[in-house]
Amino acid sequence: MSAGDKLFGRLLHRHPPAPQPVLEPPSVRSVGLQMQLDAQGRVLRLSGPLRHQLAQQTPGAEAPHLIDYLLPHNSLTVEGSPADWQGQLLDLDFYSLTGQPLHLRGWVQSLNDAWLLQLLDISDLLLDRRQARQREQCQTLAVQIGEQLRLCSLSRLPEVLSEQLQSLAQRFRIPCIALALLDEEEQGWQIHQHYASPGAPQLWQSGQRLGTGLDSLSGSAPQHPNLLQHPRLQDAFGNIEGFAVPYHDAQGVAAWLLFGYFGTQQRPPDVSERDWLQFAAALASPVLERLREHRHHLQLERLESLQTLLGTGWWEVFGDTAQVQLAPSLVKALNLASARLPLSDWLEQVHPADREELRSRLHALQDQGTPLLLCVRIYHPDTGAPPDWFRLQGQALGIGKNRRVVGFMLDISDIKNQEQQAAAAHARLDNLIARSPAVIYVQRYVEGVLEPTFFSDSLAPLLGWTLDDCAGAALIERLHPEDRERYFERTRQLLREGAVSTRYRLRDSRGDYHWLLDEAKLLRDDLGLPVEAVGLWLDVTEATQAAERIEQSEERYRILVEDSPAMICRYLPDLTLTFGNQPLATYLECSPDQLPGINLGSWMSAEQRDAFTQRLGQLSPQCPVSSAEINLQLPGREHAWWIWSDRGVFDQQGHLLEIQAVGRDNTEVRRSQMQLTQSAKMATLGEMATGLAHEINQPLNVMRMAIVNVLKRLEKGDAQIDYLTDKLKRIDAQVQRAARVVDHMRVFGRRSEIEQQPFNPAQAIEGTLSLLADGMRGKGVELRVSAPDFEVLVLGHIDQLEQVLINLMVNARDALVGKCEKDAQFEPWISLSAERDQQSVRLWVEDNGGGIDPRLLERIFEPFFTTKPVGVGTGLGLSVSYGIVENMGGRLSVRNSSEGARFCIELPIASTV
Ligand code: ADP
Repeated sequence: MSAGDKLFGRLLHRHPPAPQPVLEPPSVRSVGLQMQLDAQGRVLRLSGPLRHQLAQQTPGAEAPHLIDYLLPHNSLTVEGSPADWQGQLLDLDFYSLTGQPLHLRGWVQSLNDAWLLQLLDISDLLLDRRQARQREQCQTLAVQIGEQLRLCSLSRLPEVLSEQLQSLAQRFRIPCIALALLDEEEQGWQIHQHYASPGAPQLWQSGQRLGTGLDSLSGSAPQHPNLLQHPRLQDAFGNIEGFAVPYHDAQGVAAWLLFGYFGTQQRPPDVSERDWLQFAAALASPVLERLREHRHHLQLERLESLQTLLGTGWWEVFGDTAQVQLAPSLVKALNLASARLPLSDWLEQVHPADREELRSRLHALQDQGTPLLLCVRIYHPDTGAPPDWFRLQGQALGIGKNRRVVGFMLDISDIKNQEQQAAAAHARLDNLIARSPAVIYVQRYVEGVLEPTFFSDSLAPLLGWTLDDCAGAALIERLHPEDRERYFERTRQLLREGAVSTRYRLRDSRGDYHWLLDEAKLLRDDLGLPVEAVGLWLDVTEATQAAERIEQSEERYRILVEDSPAMICRYLPDLTLTFGNQPLATYLECSPDQLPGINLGSWMSAEQRDAFTQRLGQLSPQCPVSSAEINLQLPGREHAWWIWSDRGVFDQQGHLLEIQAVGRDNTEVRRSQMQLTQSAKMATLGEMATGLAHEINQPLNVMRMAIVNVLKRLEKGDAQIDYLTDKLKRIDAQVQRAARVVDHMRVFGRRSEIEQQPFNPAQAIEGTLSLLADGMRGKGVELRVSAPDFEVLVLGHIDQLEQVLINLMVNARDALVGKCEKDAQFEPWISLSAERDQQSVRLWVEDNGGGIDPRLLERIFEPFFTTKPVGVGTGLGLSVSYGIVENMGGRLSVRNSSEGARFCIELPIASTV
């Protein structure tokens, strides 16, 4: 150690050297500055190397005072005289020629009669001290920053970080400061937080993306990036002067502390690179740590919720304690009391059917590290609920003592249930297909050809073939020769349009042909190229044959209906025709196509239509058929009579849907019947001519007698008024009687109306008697008439019923007259009576003429049957009467009573009056 060093060491200890008599100038003259002072402190002499650097405040003064060399703040230190300063260490700042003050430390010692001020340069010492203090402050600041950031709540972290940036900015007069971190994807840098001093421009914004320009900087030291060298840094600094301080962690540069408008000039000299690095670390490290912690926390939360949602969770088995620990989500899902439980308790949860397998697999995992993958059922014997399916997966981590056995459990009940349902559905479908007359097939597309690659098991029972039997040309071979072209077209259409539905015949292994309905669809790949065709063969042989049979039978029936001479039609309950055959169309003078839509009712009178629909209303599923003779008024034509038979068609509920009817034109028959009636009437009339002559003669004679008598009296001149009146009244009565007879005769000349009318049968009895009574009595026949004591109405024509009664009475008279001729004592009578019940009225005509030969009873109603001599009887009376009564819905019958024939006319009482 040199003498200077020793002195330096002493000086550093800040103790002034012990006063000692110094006779010789000190041996340290070659260092520092020596000033020889007088007792007042004036400078007598300067020596030592530093003297050349000194600058005097008042240059040129002859005896400058020590104070003239010193900076003003030293004046207190050197107050008084050098004698006062003895024993003190003096720190003095001298003016220097460089302009920078010279920091010197020294002491005074007496030198003979003067004083020697020994001084050494302590600038380095002071600089070091200042730097050490600065470093200390920086460190304190960094520690404070770090602490603030570490201790604040997560929610306040941005605020606190901003405060810390602000304090740093204020401390070092930094206009803009920002902390940049890697962005979420760790692809580039991003401003995390920034601060701009008041008045400074907003250089950055939170969240601003800076790209990857910062990566071009060396990450090991703070630096003022040269924007010309690093043009990519434009994103971070624009064109301004900046300063970038990196922060390293184990992965490399994790953050940059950026300063804007902060060039080398603005940078405080005392703050070292290390300090800046420390600040960057103090800011970035806790922020990164807390952000990571936050991210980790979020991750955990997400994981937790994922586990809960999926019904999954981790588990770990501890072999040494035979215990297992489960994730909270599993504890909840399995309804366990605690997260850590004996392994045996965990296994208890597993369904006995799976338990032993799981136990053995766990052992294998623990002992040999064999990975575990098993689906087990967790059952609920307490609640009886169906077991839940879990997938268990486990692996061994680490080796030896550090081996851990961990895994997870995943609730796969949904999948398992679906799997089971799908399997069941599949099995059902397989079963269905195997039993059905359907074959599912797949044909692969190979260069424009469809090659069969799969047939469902139903192929063998249906056609007795295997897949090989259908390969290539074999299938074509088995096609019915007439259907081959159709099959080729089916393939072309399938490839062209993607789907096809057709039917053709295929020969089975026994040689029988089956009609198959082929429904196929073409499947294409992503590029739209055909891959395969999936199709279905349905055996429709029976259906096709049945359809053919129906078609044939339909054709037969159609011909039957079309060629039938009868009129056949179908119509709705509202009488609208839906179909009519050719005869009906011919009758109506139109074509069959024009018939649908025509209403049958339009050809009927209101009464006929009512009667028609009323009759239809009586049709029922039990009694669906009804026949009647209907009368139609066809426009421009005379009345038509049709014998009409209806059959109702009903739905399940018994509602009448439509009516099928068959009709025959009866107009001709009707017409001849009417003509017959008319001619019978005429015959009756002729027959009655004799009687009528008598009937008319009778009153004429009476009138003639009266007139002769009146004339005689008038000639005598004694004709009194009373006598004349009496005679004239008599004449009038006879005229009326003759008029009535003649009037009634007109009835016979008239044709009956078409429409039946309601009338009281008593009127017909009355009319008949008015015509016949007198004649009968004239012939000595007693008329026993008991007039009906009731009033009823029957439907028909009154003149026709009269004709019937006349016929019966005339026949009775004929029988009586014959008997009178044989027996003069015979007392003939004819009885006329009536009776009724709920439904019908019966008119009786009886005589005592001996009756009808029982052998002839059945024949007397036949037309032209008569027992009377030729020219007398026509044999029409009873047959026409029979027809008339039948037409009125009634019945004419006869039987022999004890004395003669007893005829009965039974007529239905009209329901509507
Ligand atoms: P016609 O009177 O022209 O012979 P009808 O048809 O009226 O024709 O009668 C047929 C036959 O029935 C008669 O010829 C007669 O033999 C028999 N007959 C009808 N009414 C009686 C009656 N009241 N008593 C006996 N016979 C009768």
